[in-house]
Amino acid sequence: MSKFLNEPEEDLDPRFYTEAKEDITYDAIVIGAGVIGPCIAKCLAQKGKKVLIIEKEWQEPDRIVGELMQPGGVRALRELGMIQAINNIDAQPITGYTVMYNGEKVAIKYSHKDKSGPLDLLSSDIVHEGNDKILSGDKTLNYDDFENDERERGVAFVHGRFLTNLRNMCLAEPNVTPLAGNVIEVMKNKVGEVIGVRVDVPNNRGKCEFKAHITFVVDGVFSKFRRELASDFKTTSSSSFIGMSLFNADMPTKNNGHVILGTNHSPVLVYQISPEETRILCAFNSKKAPTNISKWMISSVKPHIPEQLRPSFDKALAEGKFRSMPNQFVCARQNDVTGLCVIGDALNMRHPLGGGGMTVGLKDTVLLIKKIGDLDFSDRETVLDELLDFHYERKSYDSVINVLSIALYSLFAADNEYLAILQRGCFAYFQKGDDCLEKPIMFLSGVLPRPFLLTKVFFAVALYSVYLNFEKRGAVGFPVAFFEGFAILFTAARVFTPFLYNELIG
Ligand SMILES: Cc1cc2nc3c(=O)[nH]c(=O)nc-3n(C[C@H](O)[C@H](O)[C@H](O)COP(=O)(O)OP(=O)(O)OC[C@H]3O[C@@H](n4cnc5c(N)ncnc54)[C@H](O)[C@@H]3O)c2cc1C
Repeated sequence: MSKFLNEPEEDLDPRFYTEAKEDITYDAIVIGAGVIGPCIAKCLAQKGKKVLIIEKEWQEPDRIVGELMQPGGVRALRELGMIQAINNIDAQPITGYTVMYNGEKVAIKYSHKDKSGPLDLLSSDIVHEGNDKILSGDKTLNYDDFENDERERGVAFVHGRFLTNLRNMCLAEPNVTPLAGNVIEVMKNKVGEVIGVRVDVPNNRGKCEFKAHITFVVDGVFSKFRRELASDFKTTSSSSFIGMSLFNADMPTKNNGHVILGTNHSPVLVYQISPEETRILCAFNSKKAPTNISKWMISSVKPHIPEQLRPSFDKALAEGKFRSMPNQFVCARQNDVTGLCVIGDALNMRHPLGGGGMTVGLKDTVLLIKKIGDLDFSDRETVLDELLDFHYERKSYDSVINVLSIALYSLFAADNEYLAILQRGCFAYFQKGDDCLEKPIMFLSGVLPRPFLLTKVFFAVALYSVYLNFEKRGAVGFPVAFFEGFAILFTAARVFTPFLYNELIG
């Protein structure tokens, strides 16, 4: 099957244009074969549903998104029986993070597996024959190390290769029909219920209509159809990531994600995605990339890059192959339209600083299949009831990942004096080690779905920042530190509480 997907669009197997039928009603239509679409299609097909999956670009994409998967995402892939999608793509195991702040660094290992609780595998029609474990014999992922490590592991990879594996797993299911085409309309009946889609199909087939009991909108970050849920369902964006590929970079800590933070610059992420290639993503405080990226990289990023990475950084800079992506945010809405389910980035986005997007989407897929996988999709009211519940049940994990990513970005990208005190306090809190490291990394890695515990830890960091500020000011500066203490706590509340409120109450 992979021979279809690595070839240019014009060489796609003809069945990608011809097999989809207009005269039947599918159980499900899936719009988009990015990270989440193929997972939904494959699992539903294994549950006996007839699924049509529509994608406008079946060839392997070359994107700078979705390259580091947190342990929570790895666990969800196991629960979906799709973990082997990380095999044979030169993926790099990730054992934790190295956080650098103004030149100092702290290494944070992922937590012990026994603290995450047991996996909640989907039923045996989906998870069977060891498909919850990686394959042995992989060149870059050692089976014993990966499976038997007492700590959680994440993984980094070239996004397109991972996607090709996911797509091939989905297309191997006889109940899945693929279609190459651009969905141009989600069709509704007179009472506003979704009944299918209109698609512009290349290869002279033209505009076609396909019907299904339920349509999954999984069209990603720039979703055209999320507004089928509500006309005001829009994203906000105030920053972007500028990315480059570093080749043969000398990584400060092997098999770690790196976060480079500092008082005078925006966050930079660095992680190795293949034996040769390392991704660097540099945050810029505007949704549009700087007009002269090269100049900005030299003046605002380069001075903060560790010496070890400089040679590969300089080479990449000289080549000038920059790519940028806006960092968008959108809080999830309830799926309350009969015949429709919006999911993945189309439903919910957060700041990519935390690398949590795929984790949330994959965990959503696990929950979704549990809730509706065994239902008869022609009973649209029962499916809708389950989707209404889905919205509330996902909050425990999505709120932690989303709020943390946005709060961390607000904390580390801004240059207000109280935020700078909080930044220092946050890093010093990590330096205390033990529980002060373990809880934050568990939140980040998507294995501790407890929003109120996150709140407690966040304000513990704020109080520690106040305490450090008192220490720094000394007895003479006590009145100033007293006033600053309130300002710090107020600032902490401002960067955290509105997001948590929206996530939990929205
Ligand atoms: C800069 C950046 C870095 C990121 N880094 C990470 C990271 O390290 N780790 C992580 O977990 N997450 C990361 N993310 C988030 C992650 O990429 C997403 O959460 C994930 O890709 C969402 O999957 P999806 O299936 O919802 O959407 P996508 O993967 O975007 O897939 C959507 C698919 O729909 C198709 N499509 C769109 N419109 C149509 C149409 N009209 N007709 C047919 N097909 C259509 C598209 O071609 C695409 O294939 C990052 C995001 C950004 C912006």
